[in-house]
Amino acid sequence: TQTSPPPPASTPTHCPYCALQCGMTLTPDASGAGVAVAGRADFPVNRGALCGKGQSAAEVLSPGARLTTPLIRSADGHLEPATWDEALDAIAGGLARTRTAHGPDACAVFGGGGLTNEKAYALGKFARTVLGTSQIDYNGRFCMSSAAAAGQKAFGLDRGLPFPLEDIPRTGCVILVGSNLAETMPPALRYLTELKDNGGKLIVIDPRRTRTADQADLHLAPRPGTDLALALGMLHLVVAEGKVDEEYVRERTQGWEAARSAAMAHWPEYVERVTGVPLPDLREAVRLFTAPDHAMVLTARGPEQQSKGTDTVGAWINLALATGRPGRPLSGYGCLTGQGNGQGGREHGQKADQLPGYRKLTDPAARAHVAEIWGVDPDDLPAPGRSAYELLDALGEDIHSLLVMASNPVISAPRAAHIEERLRSLDFLAVADVVLSETAELADVVLPVTQWAEESGTTTNLEGRVLLRRQAVAPPPGVHSDLDVLRDLAARLAPELEKGFPTAPEEVFDELRRASAGGPADYAGISYARLAQGDALHWPCPDPEHPGTPRLFLDEFHTEDGRARFVPVSHRPAAEEPDGEYPLHLTTGRVVAQYQSGAQTRRVAELNKAAPGPFVELHPRLAARLGIAEGDAVTVTSRRGEAQAPARLTPTIRPDTVFMPFHWPGLGRVNTLTNPALDPTSRMPEFKVCAVRVARAGG
Ligand code: SF4
Repeated sequence: TQTSPPPPASTPTHCPYCALQCGMTLTPDASGAGVAVAGRADFPVNRGALCGKGQSAAEVLSPGARLTTPLIRSADGHLEPATWDEALDAIAGGLARTRTAHGPDACAVFGGGGLTNEKAYALGKFARTVLGTSQIDYNGRFCMSSAAAAGQKAFGLDRGLPFPLEDIPRTGCVILVGSNLAETMPPALRYLTELKDNGGKLIVIDPRRTRTADQADLHLAPRPGTDLALALGMLHLVVAEGKVDEEYVRERTQGWEAARSAAMAHWPEYVERVTGVPLPDLREAVRLFTAPDHAMVLTARGPEQQSKGTDTVGAWINLALATGRPGRPLSGYGCLTGQGNGQGGREHGQKADQLPGYRKLTDPAARAHVAEIWGVDPDDLPAPGRSAYELLDALGEDIHSLLVMASNPVISAPRAAHIEERLRSLDFLAVADVVLSETAELADVVLPVTQWAEESGTTTNLEGRVLLRRQAVAPPPGVHSDLDVLRDLAARLAPELEKGFPTAPEEVFDELRRASAGGPADYAGISYARLAQGDALHWPCPDPEHPGTPRLFLDEFHTEDGRARFVPVSHRPAAEEPDGEYPLHLTTGRVVAQYQSGAQTRRVAELNKAAPGPFVELHPRLAARLGIAEGDAVTVTSRRGEAQAPARLTPTIRPDTVFMPFHWPGLGRVNTLTNPALDPTSRMPEFKVCAVRVARAGG
């Protein structure tokens, strides 16, 4: 249990939600009944600003909103209160029975991008040593894995933004691809308005004219799933108009000829036909992007959550490379990660193919290094396991028991009704969470765990900036940390390994530093003491005197010869294109007042009032053709199922496309419809585009 001393009256810390990790101060009120939240002006990322989610974050700390007692499913099928020992014994028993009957790979672990670095690290170690299973992955696979794969291919290293956010206002042009940061991370919109105030240009690429696109000098609205073609068309024009940075390409890259040939096969007129973006707009985008000395391409979930997400991001990176942007000051390519610890969560071992420090599980030297720190034989470390969707799809078949931490795949996985069935078919399901999420509702055992402000830990924001989230309030009675849970399960399942699971976050972090030392994401020089003083240590930071690395690649890329790689890519259609039966595109996304699966934010009254439920956004012309009026209940049907929500009519969406946000359960769960077609490299499902038909409900 938490034994730390009472926290001070006012604590500087960070928001529990998105990858900006805005700085905030928490001050418990005198009665102890509430906690005041204020943005921290001293933190450079948000400079005091918070969105509504951050401002109301203290509400999820209140006992009424969350779990405080372990639950075990009774013989009559209900979740009943239990003691911690009963619950932990039940989980250890369930996992041990599966391991004995079917082998270690029949036990699986599913983590989350909201876990601190310490928890992500401990979870990966637990899966690979205590359970001995290869079957571990996490919901970050559904977030930015395509950008990670494309960044690895091109630069030999993936760090969301290889430069700080503060560079954005000082560049000359930003192409923002598939990001609605006005809704997903509102304080970041300031960087774009400052860019424009400084005379820079903003190009937004999104099938919807979002609040972010409203800020743009040029908004291009391609058909969903065609932004790969759009990037190729722009590169074609760059070549045709003699705007390639030949010297940069010669000195700092490899593979240009193949990428150039692939782009030249995509004639602008073809690109116009495929994307629906008028050729003059394409030419204007090239003009705006190539005119200034400095320019950036930033991608988010739009290009990434596709069955060709790695190639789509690769095409945007090729455009940036051909114009000489990456690795130059105030220029480059970056990915805006989504989840609070989406960056750190993928660096420390909860991803199916990775060991701490962003090391590859297939690398013998990496296995030996990490195995020594863990005190195990490198040969005993499992091979890479399945990716997130593949793991969930195998539940009830060759995976029989599952431990979930900080994830709610019933809402957030694609083809969600099928995944819900898979979860129900397990022999044993345990969920550790803050609230009784839709996934926890299906569990055999539910553990109530501490959350952000009730414990200390580090996260790594979208800039690769490692932050200390300090404990600000005492956890409620009855709640334990995930680190306690892993130690207590290790004690039951492999007592000889129990000592390897300390429960003090700083102790875990110090082991993580050693495990990451010498790896691509090197945290060796970062300590709690340094973070407490500064909040600004970007990895790699290999020793205690090192200042951290806010800007990567300025001298060379992280490849053997220091040069970036062009990757030749070609357009291909989405896995599912509209046809006679399903004539429209569906695309999915977020709204400002809800976060991810909504498990936390749907419990905050003020956020629920602002965004009480799902909706189907459609163009008035499409609505008129289908006989749908504003507010009508609408049924959206794909090959995987049906969802229902009220219609919201707006001319800001393409007439061939409908949009639904994904934060809600029940009939409005849009992931019932989405297509689990996977990117061959990143294993990212195609959340951003599938084919649907739409009708008035009951019509
Ligand atoms: Fe929190 Fe993100 Fe909102 Fe900042 S933008 S307050 S980190 S949810």
